[in-house]
Amino acid sequence: MSILSIRDLHVSVETDTGAKEILRGINLDINSNETHAVMGPNGSGKSTLAYALAGHPTYTITSGSASIDGEDLLGMSVDERAKAGLFLAMQYPVEVPGVTVTNFLRTAKTAIDGEAPKLRTWTKELSQAMKDLRVDPEFASRNVNEGFSGGEKKRHEILQMELLKPRFAILDETDSGLDVDALRIVSEGVNRVKSQSDVGILLITHYTRILRYIKPDYVHVIINGRVAEEGGAELAERLENEGYDRFQVVDA
Ligand code: ADP
Ligand code: MG
Ligand code: MG
Repeated sequence: MSILSIRDLHVSVETDTGAKEILRGINLDINSNETHAVMGPNGSGKSTLAYALAGHPTYTITSGSASIDGEDLLGMSVDERAKAGLFLAMQYPVEVPGVTVTNFLRTAKTAIDGEAPKLRTWTKELSQAMKDLRVDPEFASRNVNEGFSGGEKKRHEILQMELLKPRFAILDETDSGLDVDALRIVSEGVNRVKSQSDVGILLITHYTRILRYIKPDYVHVIINGRVAEEGGAELAERLENEGYDRFQVVDA
């Protein structure tokens, strides 16, 4: 079992009018067998948390720490973080022109494991994962995210997660823009990974809909860059009924 620990994390971005603090002291502990939902209204800092953990250069850590099993994460390069077992499914996946899905996945797998996967098992795993996610076989030879529909982009993120087998996966609004069928397929993929390996999940979402398929052990509500409330799955049900209105959301 591993633990991802986030301590008093403060994160800023540079704007035209100077540095703007977005995360103002986030504390979270995620064990590698737990699913944590991070919820909150738009603009509360959810994606900033995801990017800061993944090492996006736009987001400056001004204080606090994040570690996996005591190993400092924030001092690592982006690929070192991936090797340490961290995975990010982005809210807005980027296009990688000229790189096919097959090559992208195999390169990522090789980089993370430190050796190329055995071709036969890899090919089998890839086609099984694609089948499970109801992805057309020709998908493998397309360029990453180029001309992908919203649903295809999200499925591709989960395909990566299934094949890369991270210890910690941050899923940033993987549910957004999915119709009910795609939501179910994507959720089943996440649940498959959970059942097959020890993985801690940080499920970032605005809506409670996906939590009907992926059951959270804990729910954290982020408001204005701080954790405003925490609880179990019942907190998500409460948010479903009441929304975020009872929280004081200040316009930044
Ligand atoms: P969420 O994912 O919860 O909707 P974000 O983390 O994307 O929220 O954004 C939190 C706040 O930080 C918002 O007010 C947003 O405008 C601001 N923000 C995020 N990224 C940047 C950036 N690169 N430059 C300026 N402001 C940013
Ligand atoms: Mg948002
Ligand atoms: Mg976001």
